[in-house]
Amino acid sequence: MAEQMTGGCACGRIRYSATVHDHDAYLCHCRMCQRSTGSVSIAFKSVKVADVEWAHEPDWFESSPIAVRPYCRECGTSLGCKFRDSHEKMDLTVASFDDPSRFVPKHHFGVENMHRAWLNTEGLKEMRTDEHQLLIDKWVAATGSFPG
Ligand SMILES: [Zn+2]
Repeated sequence: MAEQMTGGCACGRIRYSATVHDHDAYLCHCRMCQRSTGSVSIAFKSVKVADVEWAHEPDWFESSPIAVRPYCRECGTSLGCKFRDSHEKMDLTVASFDDPSRFVPKHHFGVENMHRAWLNTEGLKEMRTDEHQLLIDKWVAATGSFPG
């Protein structure tokens, strides 16, 4: 069942609307994605290029001879990945969607560079931002309130 979902970068300059047909997503662990996102792995949702509408065209980083990556040059948010010669499909970063909670990981890719210590983190101490007084104090001092 097709559904319109919106997303964008951290500063709000780049916005998109994408038609998704399910909530299946995956984690990529390849070194190119690790380097380009600064993350041990990156959650992607595969979509059709034709199903993505950019309200503001993203900047494109040529990350390798075979791939380009949409991002925002102002805030640095990684928005996805696409093969240079692909006009059919591309990936959008799950966390750049306005509601990433809808997506479910279905497989791992690039597992030869997977950092297994970061996979199963269940059982580690858990802390909330709204219970972290130092963080709350900094927000209140800077803006008068805590964004939650
Ligand atoms: Zn931005």
